[in-house]
Amino acid sequence: MPSPVAFASYSPASSSLVPSLVRSDLRGHLNDIKALVLSTVKSLPNSPIPSPIQSLRQGNWVKLICGASFEDAADVRNLSLVYTLAGVDCIDCAADAAVVGAVNEGIDAAMSIAMVKRPWVMLSVNDDKEDVHFRKAEFDPEDCPSDCPRPCEKVCPASAIVIQRVVEGGGSVENNRLDKLQGGVITERCYGCGRCFSSCPYDRISATTYARDPTTTSKLLQRSDVDAIEIHTSGRRTDLFNLLWDSLVDSIENAKLVAVSQVLDGRPMSGDIGKGATREAIAFAIQLAATCNKPHGFYQLAGGTNAFTIESLKKYGLFQTNHIDYVVGNSSEARIEDEQIDPRQAYIGGIAYGGYARKIVGKILCKLPRQDGHAWIEDHPEYLLEALNEALTLVGPVKGYIAYRER
Ligand code: SF4
Ligand code: SF4
Repeated sequence: MPSPVAFASYSPASSSLVPSLVRSDLRGHLNDIKALVLSTVKSLPNSPIPSPIQSLRQGNWVKLICGASFEDAADVRNLSLVYTLAGVDCIDCAADAAVVGAVNEGIDAAMSIAMVKRPWVMLSVNDDKEDVHFRKAEFDPEDCPSDCPRPCEKVCPASAIVIQRVVEGGGSVENNRLDKLQGGVITERCYGCGRCFSSCPYDRISATTYARDPTTTSKLLQRSDVDAIEIHTSGRRTDLFNLLWDSLVDSIENAKLVAVSQVLDGRPMSGDIGKGATREAIAFAIQLAATCNKPHGFYQLAGGTNAFTIESLKKYGLFQTNHIDYVVGNSSEARIEDEQIDPRQAYIGGIAYGGYARKIVGKILCKLPRQDGHAWIEDHPEYLLEALNEALTLVGPVKGYIAYRER
């Protein structure tokens, strides 16, 4: 496990949102939210709303990745609320009781606002310490030169590094009496992207890797509000994989979906960097399409996925199709044998969005005022509406909501 993770500033909401609790001047926003959600649900070609497994078959599954190491429960709760309203099929989170509680609280709050389906809750765990999703940055700011311009703070996409300059014995920075830096990494917000490591000119930042505790995972899997598990593995240590599998054997049968993930597809934790971040995931999809003996099951793209992923998949004829004759884009054209593809099942089951999904909603979450450590987005329906509109720009094109169909 990583070094101590604090949740001191978070406690569960005591009540879900009811319209009467919303300030009268903001009720219009709440009605707009309900109308917006209703319009997305009504624009679905299939009724009733497809279950997560149906979404996988149709090729319009969307998973929100809160982050295997992202443990800021307040943000996790609000992200879960917003993306449940947007219609995701699954929410992936750290295998930690407080985080799982926060995801479910966000889902419940969303379901109290509008008629939406309950997404599956998926635990992210690892079998060894090689997967980069399971690490935390660490440094002691007292070891940093006091005049460092702190590029680590600026480069962190999760606002997980906060450093203050302090002047010993009082005085001011202007008087050049600067002595040291304080603060450092906010452990629960760090999700291990690694961008700060290379930003430090003094090489002060190190990574702490960890493996999730199988006993905790097993207990979480027995909860009725946990539906699925994703096991990250390097594939190199079958002994460690077997050890984890054996320790979950009594609880894994409760899971509706078991996913095994290797960092093969996209560039992990990079979707928020820019349009090009999705290239590797698309290249992987093209390569997979050209492979004759594919493993059975559903394929979900992740790693560098962002608002441009669907556009690229469409360009290569890989989105929501169960019949691929040719895949263009590699040096040679690849023939896909028709009989290898289950005609009831889309070729790519869906997309998982992580850093990009958190970024577009996170810029609104950081505007929320915190009272006693709480920041519930439904207390600010104007922000919730703004966040939902952002989330729909990502979920809408996959789901085929009417306003996003031609994008
Ligand atoms: S590893 Fe990434 S998330 Fe963690 S502190 Fe560094 S830049 Fe921020
Ligand atoms: S960039 Fe490096 S030296 Fe500068 S504040 Fe960050 S960790 Fe310290």
